[in-house]
Amino acid sequence: MSGSGNIEKTDILGMFPEEIEALITSPPYMQPKYRAKQIFSWLHERGVGFDEMSNLPRGLRESLGENCIIKTPTVEKRLVSKIDGTRKYLYRLYDGNTVEAVFMRYEHGNTLCVSSQVGCRMGCRFCASTKSGRVRDLSASEIVGEVIAAERDSGERISNIVMMGIGEPLDNFDNVVRFLRLISHPDGKNIGLRHISLSTCGLVPKIYELSRLDLPVTLSISLHASTDAARSEIMPVNDAYKIDELLRACRDWFVTTGRRISFEYTLIAGKNDSPADAKSLSRLLSKYMTDGGRRLPLHVNLIPLNDVEGVGMRRADRESVERFRTVLTGDGINATVRRRLGPDIDAACGQLRISSKLSQETF
Ligand code: SAH
Repeated sequence: MSGSGNIEKTDILGMFPEEIEALITSPPYMQPKYRAKQIFSWLHERGVGFDEMSNLPRGLRESLGENCIIKTPTVEKRLVSKIDGTRKYLYRLYDGNTVEAVFMRYEHGNTLCVSSQVGCRMGCRFCASTKSGRVRDLSASEIVGEVIAAERDSGERISNIVMMGIGEPLDNFDNVVRFLRLISHPDGKNIGLRHISLSTCGLVPKIYELSRLDLPVTLSISLHASTDAARSEIMPVNDAYKIDELLRACRDWFVTTGRRISFEYTLIAGKNDSPADAKSLSRLLSKYMTDGGRRLPLHVNLIPLNDVEGVGMRRADRESVERFRTVLTGDGINATVRRRLGPDIDAACGQLRISSKLSQETF
């Protein structure tokens, strides 16, 4: 931790207005309550440092600066696509660790893909982010900071968030829930939870827990296979939570929240991309994603594998991707192929952090 001596600084970007109020009405600040909302809006809505909080007394700005830390990351590296304006960031966190975020332009608004952990311990075989394990969780403030830093750098508003960067969000549950509440707070960034997708490899107990919190995000499930044998081969998490348990949790999610589920399916050549695989996926989803005989609303996102060095798997070719999609849509399942954004900057997951010489973790 940074700070003078060994006193830990207050992580103020991770606090709700009522927590800031409790902080600043006590020593050493002794401020009136209404300042809390001002500070929260400056931090979140405007994304600025204490020096710029022009409606606060100078003394207060100074003591906040001495005692608090704003954990917004700095932009260590930025790759901008000449083709579609996608921006890929390598961020440096306050302790020297690095994570990635990707800014994407869609018709429905700007979307930021954020990281939730430094590294990941889920071990999916095709994923670059998990190769050297998990270093630490990100705090809620650091995830908020990813959004602030991208808006500041691009000069544009972000209206949608996907939690599909480095890390497993449900493996950092409390901080991610706090992040969701902070980023959707009406006095802050005010990004609607319906504009946020949270992607998980399938930590079943946490899916149930999240469904009870009244946070209407879109849940994305990284399924990638339709049998336990095939899924366990590429996703070790499947040894802990089998497809049956996972899809029961998905059905419960819908019944509890009324929110549609999205399934991610990465197409790997010769492994899970045949028409028979598509048929098997279609049967599986039809079996579980029904309630009293009616099909629950769902969406399948097909992602041709992004090449990752050293994993020994290849992306499915265009024809098999299309064939796969046709089988699903023929069975009445809504399926789309993920558009490849920023092809000139290789926006593949987790690869910038690995390739950067600057990515030496500090522990
Ligand atoms: N841990 C979460 C979120 C991060 S990964 C999860 O597993 O869902 C976001 C998505 O990208 C997941 O669906 C993941 O399986 C997928 N993914 C990871 N590596 C990939 C690769 N090399 N090619 C295509 N998709 C990949």
